[in-house]
Amino acid sequence: MPRLLSLLSAALLTAPFLTAAPARAEVPKVVTDVAPVQSLAALVLGDLGTPGVLVGNGSDPHDYQLRPSQMGALSGADLVIWVGPELTPWLSTVVADAGGGDSLPLLSNQATPVRRFADGTPDPHAWLDPDIAAIWTGVIAEALAARDPDHAATYRANAAVAQARLKALTAEGQAILAPVKAPIAVGHDAFGYFAPRFGLTISGAIAEGDAHAPGAAHLTELRAELGRGTTTCLFPEAGADPRQAEQLVEGTPARLGQPLDPEALMIPRGADLYAALIRGLAAAIADCAAPKG
Ligand SMILES: [Zn+2]
Repeated sequence: MPRLLSLLSAALLTAPFLTAAPARAEVPKVVTDVAPVQSLAALVLGDLGTPGVLVGNGSDPHDYQLRPSQMGALSGADLVIWVGPELTPWLSTVVADAGGGDSLPLLSNQATPVRRFADGTPDPHAWLDPDIAAIWTGVIAEALAARDPDHAATYRANAAVAQARLKALTAEGQAILAPVKAPIAVGHDAFGYFAPRFGLTISGAIAEGDAHAPGAAHLTELRAELGRGTTTCLFPEAGADPRQAEQLVEGTPARLGQPLDPEALMIPRGADLYAALIRGLAAAIADCAAPKG
């Protein structure tokens, strides 16, 4: 921690005849990549601090440009907590170049059970499984404890409280989604972790993988899938133009669901965002895809 060292050396230089007091614990300055990670970091920091977030409200994390002010926040950080280059490749060079704090990529942490897309690349949307979110609160607590041992007990206690809440959240989501048996289709390939945790089957996505505009052949295939009558609902993506989804369901037995927001682009920021994200997805999916009365 260069800041702490320079403070200490300044203190020693200005007061050379005093016995050096024990270093006062400093809560690490934390910057995160996306709102769900910010929310998890906020749960672990509790009253000790507020983590920053780089990807702006309403912006797509897969394809993003940092503003100069955000570069400043990054270089002032002690710890950058992020999903990893699998989600935000643009952040890799920035984290390396900012010369700021340490980097804590969560997806590549050995505790994270990583799923893969059909092409073998790691699927970054792991935050959508609350069990993985619970693992991540523990990883974040240990990273903070290592950098700020005076508050280690608080970080660990906050993570334990968060983990109990996340367990309850999983049960809540599973109860909401239990009636949904038939396959659903979604806006982009973001549900590889959410679907198995909540017993859903995804029959297709408008955009395959990440940050790719769907090709004509793929859309024809999806429309044929919707025409088969097994997929109940197609859900457009929050923040995207819903017209494509409307056109895809037109003339098929599939219904158009409410927009889903797997990247929490439209949810108010803060510690409560994570629970709102999972509840919002579960409610919107059940609203369209659960059998009625
Ligand atoms: Zn995504």
